[in-house]
Order: sequence, then C-alpha cells, then structure tokens
Amino acid sequence: MSFGRDSDPRYGSFTLRTDCPTCAAPVPVNGPEAAVVCGGCGHVVPIPGGLVRELLDDFEAGWPKPPGAGLALRGANHWRWTTRPARAPACPACGEVLRVDAEAEGTLTCSCGATVAVAPVPGPLAASVPSAQRVFRFQEPPPVGAPVTVSCPQCGANVALAAADDRLARCGHCEAQVTVPPEVWRALHPVRAVHPWTVRFGGPSRRTLEAQAAAAARAAEEASGRAKRRAFEAEQARAAAAARAAAEAAEAAEMAIHAAAVARRAALRRKLLWLWFGLVIAGSVGFVVWAALQPDSGG
Ligand SMILES: [Zn+2]
Ligand SMILES: [Zn+2]
Ligand SMILES: [Zn+2]
Repeated sequence: MSFGRDSDPRYGSFTLRTDCPTCAAPVPVNGPEAAVVCGGCGHVVPIPGGLVRELLDDFEAGWPKPPGAGLALRGANHWRWTTRPARAPACPACGEVLRVDAEAEGTLTCSCGATVAVAPVPGPLAASVPSAQRVFRFQEPPPVGAPVTVSCPQCGANVALAAADDRLARCGHCEAQVTVPPEVWRALHPVRAVHPWTVRFGGPSRRTLEAQAAAAARAAEEASGRAKRRAFEAEQARAAAAARAAAEAAEAAEMAIHAAAVARRAALRRKLLWLWFGLVIAGSVGFVVWAALQPDSGG
C-alpha cells in the first residue's frame, strides 16, 4: 500500500505502552493522554509531555513513509510505540474501517460493539502539530457501576468498594484493614488491552511544505544566478566594445600618421623635381649663352 505525499487527509494509527514503575504491570496508553492509571496497582503514570508530540511530528515528517516502531527512554520508563499510515480510521477493537464524516465528533459504535470516541486533538498537541486534527480512540467501557462488597474477615460486616479504592480497604464497622481479593480487584479494574488510536492529519504534510520551501529557495537562487550571469555578460560585452573602439581609434591615428608621412614624402619629391628641373633649364640656358658668346672659330 502506498500513500501520496499530498494525501489529504492522511491517517496515522499509533500504539503506545509502558510498564508501571510501581508494579511493573503493562500500561497501555490508548490515546494522546496526559496520564494513565495502572490497572494493576492504581498508580497514576504521567505521560512525558513531548513524547506524543514527537510521535505525531515524526509521523508527519516521515510521511508517506513514517517510522514504524521504536523505543523511547523517558525518566525511569521505557515507552514502546508503533506508527502505521492508514487510509481511514479503523475500529481500535476489531480493525474495521470506520465510515465517518470528516468533521464528526462524539462517539461511534462499531459493528463489533466497540465504542470509538472521536475528538479534536488536545489543544497543546494541536498547537505543536497543527496538521493533527482528530483523534479516534477506543472508549474503555465504564467501570462496574454498582458497588462491590466484600465481607470483613474480622467482623463479617459488608465493606463496599469502588474502583477508585486501593487494594487495601478499611472496614467501616471495626476499622480492620481488608485486602481486596484479586478477583474483586480485577472486576473493578479490568485489564486494559493495547488499542491503536488513529490521528487524522490534514493540509500539506510537513515533507510537502519542506519540499515547497526548498523548491522556492532553489528557484530564487537560480534567478539570482541568472541575473548575476546576465550582468557579467553585459559587463564583458561593454568591456569588449570599449576595447574595440580603442583599437579602432589607435588604428585611425596610425593611419593618419602614415598619411601625413606619405604626404610629406610626396612634397619633398615634388620639391626635388622642381629643383632638378630648374637646374636642367639653368644649365641649358647657360650652355646656349656660352655657345653664342664663343668667337666664330670656323670663319
Ligand atoms: Zn502498577
Ligand atoms: Zn470494531
Ligand atoms: Zn470489620
């Protein structure tokens, strides 16, 4: 059987038990109780405050595969617990699925005759595990109504006993101490069996909430990374453009220098040409003059 991470509602079936620190009798804890009374000796065994909260919290943290069973040491007591994911609340006595309205409260009677109490998760527990909504638990049959009487071993008077009494009672007639016979004690304190109790959880599971938070953080980080990368690329493009512009300016300057040199050389060549031309003409004129001034040698 598998359960979706977003199952809503989801059910957890829990059992919790310990041993009485006084008489060592097994003490079942059949619901998110603050304390239970030992059926063996009447000792009130307090349930450590954080224990049930941890059970519910670990169930939610582990959903859809919550831890199955464990042993916790609190104070002088060992607490054995089991958890099991469920599709629906089940009868704590026979295990049959209970068909109930989501908002139902009060008591239900299973076809097996067991009475199931449906109640909101107790306040402090609901405050620390907000997704825990309802508890379905076995309702112990009420203790024997009519007072049970035993006869005083000393004077024979009838001594009435109630469930709240100790194993030792006092005769109202002769003040003798009367030990309650085991069969009477058992009738007054029926042995309590371990009955699983179911908690309905609603809303997103803690794992879903954590996954959503992680996804949001990842998306924010990716967006910030993309923005940084874009800024870096823009900066690089700007630097490259600036370098290109500088190179082009340098090239233009070099070309201007080159052009100026070419122009200077051309001007020099022109000057030399004119000089040479002038010399040639001057030479030619000089020669003609010189030749004309020569006395005629042939006459
Ligand atoms: Zn006990
Ligand atoms: Zn049943
Ligand atoms: Zn008596």
